[in-house]
Amino acid sequence: MNSKEIKDIEAIFARLPGLGPRSARRVILHLLKKKETLMRPLSNAIKDTLDLVKNCDYCGNFDTLNPCNICSNPDRDKSVICVVENVADLWALERTGTFLGTYHVLGGLLDALDGIGPEELYINRLITRANSENVNEIILATSTTVPGQTTAHYIAECLKDSKVIVTGLAHGMPMGGELDYMDEGTIGHAIRARKSIF
Ligand code: ZN
Repeated sequence: MNSKEIKDIEAIFARLPGLGPRSARRVILHLLKKKETLMRPLSNAIKDTLDLVKNCDYCGNFDTLNPCNICSNPDRDKSVICVVENVADLWALERTGTFLGTYHVLGGLLDALDGIGPEELYINRLITRANSENVNEIILATSTTVPGQTTAHYIAECLKDSKVIVTGLAHGMPMGGELDYMDEGTIGHAIRARKSIF
């Protein structure tokens, strides 16, 4: 039988996205075979990330800086906020290199079936940002899935009485599409050619 240590790490790996018990065992065996070249650097990298990386208080991005390197960059346009579901989508937009505004990470989407309401997401913080900072435009870049569009619609309604322009990503975004799975050219085009929602 395996030691408690191996069983513990196996149970943890099995909870990671894309890994079940079988692949968790394969990963552990691989790491144990390459202890010095892979397992120790992984262990150190995880410890450093755990100690140093936090959520940005403004946008929700992960970074060692707070405000993050995007929010604290004087060259970024603070008058435009792009609203995304999660940090993976923020990173997908950053990879395009086309967007020079700032972000707001919701941390999920409205989903009545899963019991995720506006209070579970950072929507109030977004409305406060939209009304208190010098913001001109809010880009709703949630996915074209039903929860993504429901969330975008809800946020647009909340912003109806504020002075900001509300826009959405343009054509080129397939229905049901999630940003993180799209190529940079498609995302880049969708954000450049965004359309006003009102
Ligand atoms: Zn930030």
